[in-house]
Amino acid sequence: TQAFVSAIEGARVLNAFVVETPEKALAMADASDAKLAKGTGGKLEGAPLGIKDLYCTKGVRTTACSGILGEFTPTYESTVTQNLWDQGAVMLGKLNMDEFAMGSSNETSKFGNVINPWRREGDNQSLTPGGSSGGSAASVAADLCLAATASDTGGSIRQPAAFTGTVGIKPTYGRASRYGMVAFASSLDQAGPIAKTVEDSAILLDVMCSHDAKDSTSLDVETPDWRGAVTQGVKGMRIGIPKEYRMDGMSEEIDALWEQGIAWLKAAGAEIVDISLPHTKYALPAYYIVAPAEASSNLARYDGMRYGARVEGNNLTQTYEGTRASGFGKEVQRRLLIGTYVLSSGYYDAYYLRAQKVRTKILNDFVEAFESCDAVLTPTCPSPAFAFGEKSGDPVEMYLNDVFTVTANLAGLPGISVPAGLSKNGLPLGLQVIGKALDEAACFRVGGELE
Ligand code: GLN
Repeated sequence: TQAFVSAIEGARVLNAFVVETPEKALAMADASDAKLAKGTGGKLEGAPLGIKDLYCTKGVRTTACSGILGEFTPTYESTVTQNLWDQGAVMLGKLNMDEFAMGSSNETSKFGNVINPWRREGDNQSLTPGGSSGGSAASVAADLCLAATASDTGGSIRQPAAFTGTVGIKPTYGRASRYGMVAFASSLDQAGPIAKTVEDSAILLDVMCSHDAKDSTSLDVETPDWRGAVTQGVKGMRIGIPKEYRMDGMSEEIDALWEQGIAWLKAAGAEIVDISLPHTKYALPAYYIVAPAEASSNLARYDGMRYGARVEGNNLTQTYEGTRASGFGKEVQRRLLIGTYVLSSGYYDAYYLRAQKVRTKILNDFVEAFESCDAVLTPTCPSPAFAFGEKSGDPVEMYLNDVFTVTANLAGLPGISVPAGLSKNGLPLGLQVIGKALDEAACFRVGGELE
């Protein structure tokens, strides 16, 4: 713990942590030492972790990196983080992220962007760590913590993991409790870890997931032996390759990485099958209707009355307007406008309802495909890490980066990103494995083989 505390202090230029809690960390580590000496340690006893600023942590400032939450300090703990502390994990601090988890580059945080510890060969330009869990991914990649919590609404665990050479898994919707996680789009949001190895991610996810009466969408299901699955191998597994993911304009190196992954799995005894997910092309538009719609409803609670910042006006309406206009950043405001529009009367049927129907079709595509395969292999992202400002001027360009990840959220399926190679200029590239509902084990088996 002491080594990580020092490393965090020495790496502030990366801007990965927005709150450091060294005293708390060292006290927790001492308590862990005492437990370990008595042989009573939990599954994560003494493991120093970073926590995405989306998780409410009792007595420690939690703002989801938004101005509107001001200095908000929760009086309660999220279920996921409580599960970690109950098993002996140590909290190093809170990690930077895109404001309310809306973004793919960590450029929308009120605390400023996070810097990816990786650089292109022969080029000193700073790169984004991806988003929204950019702080989580960068801190794991730079050895500022053993592992970190993250969250994934449309790819925010998997894409930053791919951009930083780390492992990230989003479980089946409902596996992890959303209680105490600042809400973005409730039907898509899931918790998960970013870690150094597939095995670490299995150990972490096992502790994070639990049935929770405080979240009505939480599933009451057993957690299988995920750690054991990591080394089980893929012999006899059928791996589906969806033809619709061979997008026009996909770079050669991403295509080559995918072929390499296919070859590795084949050599390890898996059967490769061609599958079709015909509604894939509608996933991104459906996601960028459903997610802002739910966000506009969830973020209605930030009215200057209950939490954080308030800009006092001459009357209530002015107070609402002043608070929301100054508290929310540009990308969040864009999403609230889109979300309110697609939910408004007259447009609801044309946009929101239609997007929900598309969502069912996307799920049905997967259900059908899983009749002939046990897991689906795709690239995690269409490109390696990009530079600051490269996509932030054009929201559609930024949204396109999520093309391979949003489908798993829309369908509620588990997905893992595993580092599988390097780009021509030396940046990490990730492969994604999507499993059947509740079959994270398949993600860990294939992930373990690809690692
Ligand atoms: N990049 C996507 C978005 O901006 C996904 C974010 C996330 O998963 N939290 O909505």
